[in-house]
Amino acid sequence: MICTLCPRMCAAERNSEEGKGYCGMGSTAVVSRMAPHMWEEPCISGSRGCGTVFFGGCSLGCVYCQNHDISHEKRGKRMADEELAERIRALEATGVHNIAFVTGTHFVPNVLHALSIYRPQVPVVWNTGGYETVETIKMLEGAVDIYLPDLKLYSQRLGKVLCNAPDYFEKATAAILEMQRQTGEAQYDENGLMKRGTIIRHLVLPGCTGDSLKVLEWIHENLPAATPVSIMRQYTPMPFCTVRGLDRRVTDSEYARVVDRAVDLGLHALIQEKEAAEAEYIPDFDLR
Ligand code: SF4
Repeated sequence: MICTLCPRMCAAERNSEEGKGYCGMGSTAVVSRMAPHMWEEPCISGSRGCGTVFFGGCSLGCVYCQNHDISHEKRGKRMADEELAERIRALEATGVHNIAFVTGTHFVPNVLHALSIYRPQVPVVWNTGGYETVETIKMLEGAVDIYLPDLKLYSQRLGKVLCNAPDYFEKATAAILEMQRQTGEAQYDENGLMKRGTIIRHLVLPGCTGDSLKVLEWIHENLPAATPVSIMRQYTPMPFCTVRGLDRRVTDSEYARVVDRAVDLGLHALIQEKEAAEAEYIPDFDLR
């Protein structure tokens, strides 16, 4: 295949084994982990967890990535779409509340093919770093019930330094508007679990709260007030990240500054307790 799935627009050849694009991934899905995952927002994790499908590789590649093993090192098992469909069926049978694809942009055709073979009865979640094209999100219309995009950064400079994507904010916001158009306002079942909707995630980074406030202001101006905005504080410095200032956790006052602004703007903010942020969020990518 010649790939233009993400805003990198490599137009690179990807064969079943390998790819020559920015993400370096071939056209066969690489799956790092499929298992119930309890540490997402309560309205999707519920009591039995999300049925997460973590893919290997990433077309964004943030320098501080919290899942470096799979995103940068591309750890995982190559899996035919038919096997992916069967494993989705088995994962659903464990009782999870949804099937959540994590960082699957470079494998959209595989996900759509697998869902055409087996469509779970529970909602399908698309968990993404936000760096998507509108065209690719349109391909997911009808297949995805809940979008869970990051809106990581506002400034072009940070986009360049942290993700080699100065157009991150421009691309992510256009994609989020398309996600919101598809899902409409959030809908919940009688237990408060989301059935359909878009949840925006924003990870507060040390020393970058000014950028966070710009992100919140865009959400306030462009999305319905009921849109859940998950403000995360679990940033953990990674040994491979050498960007100055990213070598520490977020302080209480930094997190409070961002949350206070979300409250001032009247956003439907989902706030993370400090204790929860220090729990183990990063699964072992043991190919389970
Ligand atoms: S998904 Fe990979 S190959 Fe395709 S455009 Fe993006 S970076 Fe390039």
